[in-house]
Amino acid sequence: MDLIRENWTSIKEAIKEEYNITDISYKTWVEPLSFYNITDNTINIVISKEQSHHALSYISSKYKNFFKVTISEMFGVDYDINFIMENDKDDYSHHDIPSPINFNENYENSNLDSKYKFDSFVVGSNNRFAHSAALAVAESPGELYNPLFIYGGPGLGKTHLIHSIGNYIIENNPNKKVLYVTSEDFTNDVIDSIRHGTSSSMSELREKYRTVDVLIIDDVQFIIGKESTQEEFFHTFNVLHSANKAIIITSDKPPKDMVTLEERFRSRFEWGLIADIQVPDYETRVAILKKQAEKFDKKIDDEIFQYIASNIKTNIRELEGAFTKIIAFAKLNNVELTKELAEEALKDVIYPNKSKEVTCNSILNTVAEHYNISPEDIKSKKRNAEFVIPRQVVMYLCRTLTEDSLSYISNIVGKNDHTTVINGYKKIKEYMETSEEMNKTIEIIMKKIIPS
Ligand code: ADP
Ligand code: MG
Repeated sequence: MDLIRENWTSIKEAIKEEYNITDISYKTWVEPLSFYNITDNTINIVISKEQSHHALSYISSKYKNFFKVTISEMFGVDYDINFIMENDKDDYSHHDIPSPINFNENYENSNLDSKYKFDSFVVGSNNRFAHSAALAVAESPGELYNPLFIYGGPGLGKTHLIHSIGNYIIENNPNKKVLYVTSEDFTNDVIDSIRHGTSSSMSELREKYRTVDVLIIDDVQFIIGKESTQEEFFHTFNVLHSANKAIIITSDKPPKDMVTLEERFRSRFEWGLIADIQVPDYETRVAILKKQAEKFDKKIDDEIFQYIASNIKTNIRELEGAFTKIIAFAKLNNVELTKELAEEALKDVIYPNKSKEVTCNSILNTVAEHYNISPEDIKSKKRNAEFVIPRQVVMYLCRTLTEDSLSYISNIVGKNDHTTVINGYKKIKEYMETSEEMNKTIEIIMKKIIPS
């Protein structure tokens, strides 16, 4: 083993020489490779973290033989060669690792994201049912709950869960063809094939979607209503379902609440199992944060988890975003993570409107924008009705929403007489008593000034 380790650089250089490898290829693929160990007559070579899994299969197919031959020539010993990702290194520190990682074409074609697995999915009362349904489908795809329909609001873990199903299936059964697509991907594929308009483009589309063992469609609500896409999806669904191939669907709502959903889809979506994901409760939110914190080597105070979890409640993506923000904030400022720091880092997230103080100037600008005129028009002496009313609205809102004095308000609207403000205020108040429309207008403008 030491022989190879000591001569590692010379081995790589010999390969470069022998096989006429260009500088750029050498730098990109060969130079970063490091020797790890030898198990069962196999040399394990580590591919650095910066490289993707894709590189693993590439390097493996292109360079494996170069290493084998060169090492054999240099040292007169035949070894098998195996490439491993840096992150998987630990698995090879034992001597009983039998087979090298093989490039799995099904995995490469599946569109699955390997970061979303069951291991990293925290189960709470909000998602327990969806999680167990997902696991059941992962264990016996196509056999039960077909289709599996998962719905829930944004950022609650639908995408994570369905990738987990796909990853689980391929890991346990590498021969299965799994395909994950967002409904956007699917729509684009349909549009492309229509645009080409050839029978081969059509059959390519069908080949892609109708020959899989597991089809995962994320956010199906965006397909519904798009005529041709919906039609293609309908036939794909029927072909797969009648062949007992697994179909997994997510949506923002249950089928019964999807207003524009045609009956033929509704009934099909209801053939299998429908599972919802709700907003996580406090304990689950803390557990999700703790799970995420495992990625950092620093110990993080419970207080911090509690602070985030009690302030961000309805979206796990935001919950994670807040946590990442605090970590980054501490790192950037090179300070310890404390609750005070968390409060500081998250003040815009947790109190987005606090800093937006209501002033007469902001009222002036918002009213002008609402009526599609300029603040200068409001401040001007022009007496046309299209300016008079907005001007009075400004006076009304300034009196209602600020503590500013009458003379200050009259200045804002380009006057120097505080009775104008009193009159303007009264006018709008009267309008509001008689006109539903004026009431609505004021309500809308107020919402723009103080978003809740
Ligand atoms: P959705 O598809 O419902 O909008 P995602 O699956 O994209 O939501 O989830 C948003 C983020 O929250 C992702 O980073 C995901 O990993 C994380 N997440 C959601 N639910 C959980 C959970 N139960 N455990 C761990 N992480 C979760
Ligand atoms: Mg999603």
